[in-house]
Amino acid sequence: MTDKPTFQREAKKHLGQHFLHEKGIISKIVQAVDPKPGDRLVEIGPGQGAITFPLLDRHGALTVIEFDRDLIAPLTEAAKPHGELTIVHADVLSVDFTALAGDSQIRLVGNLPYNLSSPILFHALEHADVIRDMHFMLQKEVVDRMASGPGNKVYGRLSVMLQAYCRVTPLFKVPPGAFRPPPKVDSAVVRMVPLPRDQIAVNDRKRFEHVVRAAFGQRRKTLRNALNGVADSAMIEAAGIRPDARAEQVDVAGFIRLANLPAA
Ligand code: SAM
Repeated sequence: MTDKPTFQREAKKHLGQHFLHEKGIISKIVQAVDPKPGDRLVEIGPGQGAITFPLLDRHGALTVIEFDRDLIAPLTEAAKPHGELTIVHADVLSVDFTALAGDSQIRLVGNLPYNLSSPILFHALEHADVIRDMHFMLQKEVVDRMASGPGNKVYGRLSVMLQAYCRVTPLFKVPPGAFRPPPKVDSAVVRMVPLPRDQIAVNDRKRFEHVVRAAFGQRRKTLRNALNGVADSAMIEAAGIRPDARAEQVDVAGFIRLANLPAA
């Protein structure tokens, strides 16, 4: 079943606008989020309110971050019968989630603009301390990369970086026809729950990022070669990894052990 938006604007391609209209998918997202009294929900990219209004109906209050100025006034107006909508008119990458959260935690939701998926994920990671969980619609291929493990051909930097800090659970697939206009690719909804601070094993985030980036930067090379200048063979062995292994064979814990060793 499809749902008619309360107001309609032509989709802007450069803002990654693909508006959801499938009622079944929208209610599956709301069910997955399952807001509870007192939760502070923040939606990234509300667009024409496909997820916003059902969430408002269920929860009563919601903050949204929207970059497209043409959507601000109609969203404000259309939200009135549904609940209390706070609109932050900004580029989400410039929003300080920590300041937004204040002294509580926030729950992020969003059918994200696909051209900004990775930057938004990494931006959220920077503020993982104040984020209780995230439910995002992304390209299915990106969700596959986020959730995959060693040995899988899509296992890479994104998988390792996210899984070191979050529990990543793919929830369900969404076909192009659920959106207007339809994207060229399949989509999927994923849940990410940041690990509690005492379960994050990474000692130095920058060093970890550097090691993972170097390892996957030249993923066909052995780690000994890919990590030249970043970690030597002795260190790679000390982390319990064979220096002739390739990055795609090393699990997240292995990368963490390697990055936690004092640099030579
Ligand atoms: N949530 C709506 C839905 O499901 O129909 C719209 C989703 S659409 C894929 C992505 C939304 O993100 C659009 O409303 C777009 O204007 C907004 N957007 C794009 N870039 C943004 C940015 N940098 N910061 C905040 N919102 C952005």
